[in-house]
Amino acid sequence: MALIIDHPSPITQENGQGTNGHAGLKETVRQLARERKAVILAHNYQDGAIQDVADCVGDSLNLAKYARATDAEIILFCGVHFMAEAAVMLNPAKLVLMPDLGAGCALADMIVPQQIRQWRAQHPDGAVVCYINTSAAVKAECDYCCTSSNAVKVVEHIPQEKEILFVPDYYLGSYVKAKTKRNIHLWKGYCPAHAVILPERIDALRDEHPDAEFLMHPECGCLTKQMDLADQILSTEGMVSHVRRSPAQTFIIATETGILHRMRQQNPDKTFLPASEHASCHYMQRNTLEKVFWSLVKLQYPVTVDPALAQRALVPIERMLAIS
Ligand code: SF4
Repeated sequence: MALIIDHPSPITQENGQGTNGHAGLKETVRQLARERKAVILAHNYQDGAIQDVADCVGDSLNLAKYARATDAEIILFCGVHFMAEAAVMLNPAKLVLMPDLGAGCALADMIVPQQIRQWRAQHPDGAVVCYINTSAAVKAECDYCCTSSNAVKVVEHIPQEKEILFVPDYYLGSYVKAKTKRNIHLWKGYCPAHAVILPERIDALRDEHPDAEFLMHPECGCLTKQMDLADQILSTEGMVSHVRRSPAQTFIIATETGILHRMRQQNPDKTFLPASEHASCHYMQRNTLEKVFWSLVKLQYPVTVDPALAQRALVPIERMLAIS
């Protein structure tokens, strides 16, 4: 597909800085997206400048649904690799691009297919539920997929008598186990970005801001200690809609700090305090607005999934989409 850029490039080199600032670059990116018939999808944890140019900003589930429904020819996925893989599997005929193929996920890397097969052999009657933060190869070994917004619903859908093997996030699994009271075995994976959110810091913030609502993502490493104290335990999308509706003026947000951009933009009269300034995912931050620009110019970097693998990995994803 040939693309003629009839406007001067705002970037002089691929990893360099724009010469006309973010505003000009954002405008150029939007124009390129229209010319390419591309949609830009951005996860809630992406840099604010990327969220500003996206057609859809959301959590993994919303982005997967948007990716399935779009009639655009190109999906430029600004998130991490497992999310782009899901978009490929839901849209095998479309070109799915990522601005940086190095945007992986430490949590997803904490389990590989062989480990699922070994665990399943120890629990032959169990149902394996995987968090969406897993590779396509891992999903292909599982029975159900879930996101943080529908994990409880997915587990409740599984027949009561089944024991459940939950991978890879220990804290999300613990939350689901507490909510559903089901017989759930937990894999001991965790997200390093959420692991830096410490109970002591949350206690201090709550003392300083007694009227603030405390919202927590179920991936947080301190979840088991703070579960009873959180006003709400929510997925990223759940948090975004909650703060819009809530009469509270101040919120303590325990998740990756990228989400604060959207909250502040949509609620300029409210105050949002990160539970930790350090809760930043360096995989998500590999994507930049400059790389988004180059991705549209050069149609880089395509994400592919072997069709036979995709067929198997789609089974737990489609089951999840049917339930949620
Ligand atoms: S925030 Fe954690 S779970 Fe999400 S992509 Fe980054 S490493 Fe993975």
